[in-house]
Amino acid sequence: MVVIMKPDATEADVDGVVDRIKRYGMDAHLSRGKERTIIGIIGDEREVDFDSIAALPGVERAMPILRPYKYVSRTVHPEKKVVLVGDVCIGADLVFIAGPCSVEEEDTTLRIAEEVKKAGARIFRGGAYKPRTSPWSFQGLREKGLKILSKVKRETGLPTVTEVMDTADIALVGQHADVYQVGMRNMRNYALLAELGRTSKPVLLKRGDSAKIEEWLAAADYVVRNGNENVILCERGIRTFEDFTRNTLDLNAVVAAKMESCLPVLVDPSHGTGRSDMVPAMSRAAIAAGADGLLLEVHVDPDKAWSDGMQAITPEALGRLVAACKEIHALGE
Ligand code: PEP
Ligand code: MN
Repeated sequence: MVVIMKPDATEADVDGVVDRIKRYGMDAHLSRGKERTIIGIIGDEREVDFDSIAALPGVERAMPILRPYKYVSRTVHPEKKVVLVGDVCIGADLVFIAGPCSVEEEDTTLRIAEEVKKAGARIFRGGAYKPRTSPWSFQGLREKGLKILSKVKRETGLPTVTEVMDTADIALVGQHADVYQVGMRNMRNYALLAELGRTSKPVLLKRGDSAKIEEWLAAADYVVRNGNENVILCERGIRTFEDFTRNTLDLNAVVAAKMESCLPVLVDPSHGTGRSDMVPAMSRAAIAAGADGLLLEVHVDPDKAWSDGMQAITPEALGRLVAACKEIHALGE
């Protein structure tokens, strides 16, 4: 961090900043110019409370130099992280995770699982706890849904990913699913992230719809800092002025997250577009941009889906998309 003092800052103001820096266990480097003094912090500035320094008397500006994350940083960890889910190496193999938005009745869910497996999916997705904007919308089958996910795994051998919304549900969800999904609404739920950091199952961390890339990576650092290195990032579209699509799929973020962090990055073109007719093209684009795989909403009968039917593709469409994405991926290798 660099602290720029005001032109009229007194010696006492400068000493105040230096004292505060030392209280954090860091050293200060003073550079006295003709008009003002600049103070540099020597040490890991991430451990310093930025706002408390910026608010000290005589301070004009305090600018961070380091990113607000460390454990997931590519600079600190140049090696790419590979997250193992069953026998799928996310970050090494191109992976397709597919299934309905919500876990539905057992027979439909099992049928979808069998079909997505045939189409090339290696992991099954389905929400048992659904974070819906309206409290009147279907909230998910909850524990019943989790049991259906366990059955899917027993019958098809596919590992499963499902959302966890509350620290109180972590243990139960962990008994039934292989990967914890943190949805876009909970990307900033730091208590949830820290608690998932104390587990050992992989965490699929979606980007908040108004989160900057830096905030998303800092959220990932919460999980890793608490002990769980198995984090998978997932870009799922952000809010913009555009309302032709449900969200704007930000493929810049895929390239940026892969440059900035060591974590695998997936893309969810279903929520990223909100339109089944746009999902295949944006899936291909995501793979061309370097995504490690896709998270897709698929239904045997999209019109009858219990949630997000408008963005669900059919298993046949999934099969075509998988084939096209594999070809694109091979070009980049
Ligand atoms: C989902 O994957 O069904 C979901 C609710 O995603 P998001 O948190 O990205 O909206
Ligand atoms: Mn959905």
